[in-house]
Amino acid sequence: MSKHTPGPWKVVSPKEGGCLDQKENRLICTKINNHTYHIAETFQYRNGEFNAPDGVSLANARLIAACPELFELLKAAKCPCCDGSGGYYDNCGNPTQCQWCDETKQALAKATG
Ligand SMILES: [Zn+2]
Repeated sequence: MSKHTPGPWKVVSPKEGGCLDQKENRLICTKINNHTYHIAETFQYRNGEFNAPDGVSLANARLIAACPELFELLKAAKCPCCDGSGGYYDNCGNPTQCQWCDETKQALAKATG
C-alpha cells in the first residue's frame, strides 16, 4: 500500500490556498474532511530564471496534481509487449528483455522509493 496522500489532488493559486506570497507559484492540495492540506508548491522557474514569464509553475503543478491518478493507472496497466513477466522471445526466437516492463518498473520504483 502506498504511503502518499490519497488523491485527488488539485492545483490552486497561493491566494486560494491561504498564502499571499509569490503570485505565480502554485499549490498542490487535497481536501480531507473539508480541510485543505498543502502537498507541494511549484515555482515559476525555468532555464535558470526565476519568475519566467510563462505558465511553467502552473504546468508543473498540473503534472504533479495528476500523479495519484497516473500512478494508479500505471500500476494497473497491462504490458502491451509481453505477458508481464518482463521478457519475451523476438521474431527470431531470441530471449528479449521487455523495455516497457523495465521502464514501468523503474517509474513505479521512483514514485515509491
Ligand atoms: Zn512487458
